[in-house]
Amino acid sequence: MTGLVIRGAALLGSERADLRVREGLIVARGRLTPEVGERVVDAEGLVALPGLVDLHTHLREPGGEASETVLTGTRAAAAGGFTAVHAMANTSPVADTAGVVEQVLRLGERAGYADVRPVGAVTVGLAGEQLAEIGAMARSAAAVRVFSDDGHCVHDPLLMRRALEYVATFDGVVAQHAQEPRLTVGAQMNEGELSGELGLAGWPAVAEEAIIARDVLLAEHVGARLHICHLSTAGSVDIVRWAKARGIAITAEVTPHHLLLTEEFARSYDARFKVNPPLRRDEDVLALRSALADGTIDIVATDHAPHPAEAKECTWAEAAFGMVGLESALSVVQHTMVETGLIEWSDVARVLSTAPAAIGRVQGYDQPLAVGHPANVTLVDPAHRRTWSVDDLRGRSTNTPYLARELPGRVIATALRGVLTLVDGALVDPDTVAAARREVARG
Ligand SMILES: [Zn+2]
Repeated sequence: MTGLVIRGAALLGSERADLRVREGLIVARGRLTPEVGERVVDAEGLVALPGLVDLHTHLREPGGEASETVLTGTRAAAAGGFTAVHAMANTSPVADTAGVVEQVLRLGERAGYADVRPVGAVTVGLAGEQLAEIGAMARSAAAVRVFSDDGHCVHDPLLMRRALEYVATFDGVVAQHAQEPRLTVGAQMNEGELSGELGLAGWPAVAEEAIIARDVLLAEHVGARLHICHLSTAGSVDIVRWAKARGIAITAEVTPHHLLLTEEFARSYDARFKVNPPLRRDEDVLALRSALADGTIDIVATDHAPHPAEAKECTWAEAAFGMVGLESALSVVQHTMVETGLIEWSDVARVLSTAPAAIGRVQGYDQPLAVGHPANVTLVDPAHRRTWSVDDLRGRSTNTPYLARELPGRVIATALRGVLTLVDGALVDPDTVAAARREVARG
């Protein structure tokens, strides 16, 4: 296979330049003349970002194939500009052994649309009672570095302490789903005036904040890396800000939906807006946006959580928690953070690629779009605007909260180590992707 030249993109939103890609690497950057046989991707008017990295994706396989598979989930990832995703452990069986994480790794390699980095469970069966085979998962072919019981909180402080001590021995990180279970029994939406008015059981902010406060202190005590999943309240931001000022090695994420949507959507009783943690108040949304802008929150992670139609087309109380998010993440970040002037495209590259890759210890993302580095590239058209419909989704499930909402931006092309997985906004067929990847691998 000959190389590729990406022409005229604004690299990280500023300098316009061409990129030459050969054998999976960026080999030149500047004003380039295409050579005979080189494929040219016209990127005039587009912004070039490094391939996006999601630290929090639910791919559902094994066991939840009615909602998503590794193949369909990574197709959604490529459509959203992602080249690597971390697959959460709450599958069936749970990813709590070396065998399961290696299975997920192999499914990702076979699918070919994005690198799949399995997340290992912290506790056996996510039951919160006994540590999982953390060391075996770390030493496995999947080389797991991120451990999480996501969907459940590691609520026992002694187990949390032991998990932090364990991962610190090999530079791993525990990603905590901060939800004090005793404070959220039966909870359905943010606790406040509105939950009272709607007659839905409230989910108090303190249920999240109390766990974060405890865990930043545990992380400090142990000297281990801690990551906090999906911050949703202004109070959580305050605690993380305090912990970072104190020098504690913690990182934090926010989801696109918590940057845009509020509890007001619960008024519709439309379960597409039911999510864990729940949508909060305007002032929480504003606090999360400024925390992402000032670096208190390190990254945006999708918490892509596909569910079959029947799990959402029911009463609010019966419905499952979660939203799909891979395809729409970049558009929501452009809308809430770039178009509001809070951050620049170079910051988008940081919060959606470099920083999540650093937390997950994913190689090849530390110098975005630099010569000599892997050609993980996402081309986005920031001027495009579209009203979201199910046709914009590429995964198996359609539980997006953005139907009929206008959002800016569109991912036009995605390259995974020089292999195009998305071209002109359309997914490349699986055989072509597989053949191209074999060719790059041969070198
Ligand atoms: Zn979670």
